Amino acid sequence: MALIAILAGDGIGPEVTAEARRVLEALDLGLTFEEAKVGGAAYEVAGHPLPPETLAVAERADALLFGAVGDPRFDGLERAHRPEQAILGLRKAFGLFANLRPARLFEGLEDASSLRPDIARRIDMVIVRELTGDVYFGAKGRGTTEAGLREGHDLMRYDEEEVARIARVGFETAMRRRRRLLSVDKANVLETSQLWRDVVIEVAKEYPDVALDHMYVDNCAMQLVRDPGQFDVILTGNLFGDILSDQASMCAGSIGMLPSAALGATGKGLYEPIHGSAPDIAGQDKANPCAAILSAAMMLRHSLGQAEAADRIDAAVAGAIRDGARTGDLGGSLSTRAMADAILDRL
Ligand code: ATP
Ligand code: MG
Repeated sequence: MALIAILAGDGIGPEVTAEARRVLEALDLGLTFEEAKVGGAAYEVAGHPLPPETLAVAERADALLFGAVGDPRFDGLERAHRPEQAILGLRKAFGLFANLRPARLFEGLEDASSLRPDIARRIDMVIVRELTGDVYFGAKGRGTTEAGLREGHDLMRYDEEEVARIARVGFETAMRRRRRLLSVDKANVLETSQLWRDVVIEVAKEYPDVALDHMYVDNCAMQLVRDPGQFDVILTGNLFGDILSDQASMCAGSIGMLPSAALGATGKGLYEPIHGSAPDIAGQDKANPCAAILSAAMMLRHSLGQAEAADRIDAAVAGAIRDGARTGDLGGSLSTRAMADAILDRL
């Protein structure tokens, strides 16, 4: 019997995660759940955003269903205690180096997309983002220059093994789709990107059936709003992937629609909506639960070997959206709970 750790976190995290759990329970797959505090919610009670008792729950679990972390009340804390450190810590603790972020436009959401309907309708891509390297994990610091100016720095760094393993995830993903991989970097300016490009080209030799292309990140950002239908699988680093996937989300209707998976070398993955804790709408029963519910479907598919149940969730979300169920971010007025009910009705 699989054990799911529910790490709901802060802001709208608990609201949307509760609905994802309800959907999983309705499928009657014999899953068991254990909840643990994370982020600001954990700092409040345990003095740390990722306390040992939460890590122990995550350790025991077969998969982690994560909500969101981030709470403006704790913005002033020193970095190690800030809520956001919890997700970085979980990625590091379980070696979750590969982030899969599928973006597609659900039928009926053309009007919610920031793009023209005929352009928006063509969006169906996966962003494969590296998750445990780059400026997020390089040396950081603040200081003073010789001239007495305040200074800050974050080191962008990758080694060849880190690039090769995420490149393989990109190629494997492309093999399951249209066998086209686009590697996005900034190799005209950055040493890390030149290494990235060299290694991706080497790994490509293992995948002769996949057509590999390269694009600079600035051009990719432009192309993504011009014609996202040209993209299938995008492989990119941690920082570029963070930005491009938020951008892709708006093309697909709302940040409240996009799920993600963080995977490593073992079957244990962490599944979370790509949105954050949304403090501006927290506690108002307004958040769109679709991203969290679709994240639960990714969990069934990637960690629990339940692809059929995952398809049922995807179809239920698509059906509810097609029939007009809408939370505020999609231009409607349904509450979080009512939106989830519309999905449960179609399971
Ligand atoms: P993070 O740093 O954790 O990525 P963020 O600062 O990017 O967080 P989000 O919390 O993702 O911000 O919120 C960005 C905007 O999107 C906010 O206005 C928020 O209300 C909205 N938003 C995010 N998630 C949802 C959701 N599930 N439903 C409706 N609106 C949402
Ligand atoms: Mg964000």
